[in-house]
Amino acid sequence: MGVLGSGQLGRMFALAARRMGYRVHTFSPDSDTPTGQVADVEVPAEYDDLDAVRKFAAGVRVVTFEFENVPAATAAAAAERALVRPSGHVLHTTQHRLREKTFLSTNGFPTTGFRAVRSVEDVRKAVTELGLPAVIKTASFGYDGKGQSTVKTLAEAEAIVRAAPDVEWIYEAFVDFEREVSVVAARGIDGVISDWGVIENSHRNHILDVSISPADVSAKVAKRASEIARGILEKLDVIGVLCVEFFLTRSGELLVNELAPRPHNSGHLTIDGHVTSQFEQQLRSVCGLPMGSTRQLRPVAMANLLGDLWTDREPNWSAALEHPDLKLHLYGKSEARPGRKMGHITATADSAAEAARIVTQARDRLIQR
Ligand code: AMP
Repeated sequence: MGVLGSGQLGRMFALAARRMGYRVHTFSPDSDTPTGQVADVEVPAEYDDLDAVRKFAAGVRVVTFEFENVPAATAAAAAERALVRPSGHVLHTTQHRLREKTFLSTNGFPTTGFRAVRSVEDVRKAVTELGLPAVIKTASFGYDGKGQSTVKTLAEAEAIVRAAPDVEWIYEAFVDFEREVSVVAARGIDGVISDWGVIENSHRNHILDVSISPADVSAKVAKRASEIARGILEKLDVIGVLCVEFFLTRSGELLVNELAPRPHNSGHLTIDGHVTSQFEQQLRSVCGLPMGSTRQLRPVAMANLLGDLWTDREPNWSAALEHPDLKLHLYGKSEARPGRKMGHITATADSAAEAARIVTQARDRLIQR
């Protein structure tokens, strides 16, 4: 197995793959990475070093990736020597917000209203047509709220575009959502799709904070979310895992916010909460194996551990682990920076709300003296 990218998603994928007897090679510009630490081979090279990419791909049977900003040329070079799954066209659509939203809306999937903005005139037009407040995001390379701002006035919107005249933006109508949910789904080479149901997500400073499963939504909403997600995987012809992030509006409408063509932070709870995790399912789908069961073992919650928890000292792991149901996942990152995802904790319980209480209390204990 080859993995393009070397972060925590690749690490958890590699752990699942190695458990099933696969050898894992990882490729990224860095070394001693979260993925590299648990892989058989770590290749440090730049993504635009296409000869290095071809050599890497020649050493594996299947290449998958763990982050979507792998350049298209890199995926194409890998595809000369190995199977690449999901294929380059999935990356192409999902690594650019305008292409992604255009794909969704032209295929009848619900999204918030949006416009492409390349000039101050465009942004004026967007304000007139979609109104305010709105969220302005860079079309490329945005994640965890980076490259995006909420604007309340025309002057604010114009100032953003004027300050970076060469950037391509997407202007989105602001959604006054009731909650945010996601569906992680996997599609195999035979077209069979599985998903883990609806996961409910809360964010802090635009970064995922806590996820719980099952989400506290009606059966009707859960069914509709799963149908939309499955429709997207089919239409995009995904082989592998894809996460659909939704806004659930106060009137019960689901709007797709974003797609991630890989395992997703909100799906980390599938490792401890479900028969088959999103990482094992990614492996099964890209290798053409039958899908595993996504049945939930017990309601589950996950809390992210950001670098902010490492103030002047190591977090108090013993205090957090006093709860015997708690599971600790650390990603092997040597430097803790504020906002950096260092690990996560999960707990299973009789209800998702109880599981959420366990993980948030345990996280609070990490900073106890
Ligand atoms: P994104 O990078 O698109 O996932 O956005 C990060 C977070 O910003 C989302 O999880 C929402 O909390 C918020 N957000 C993004 N787009 C919108 C929108 N159109 N309306 C309201 N909130 C938004």
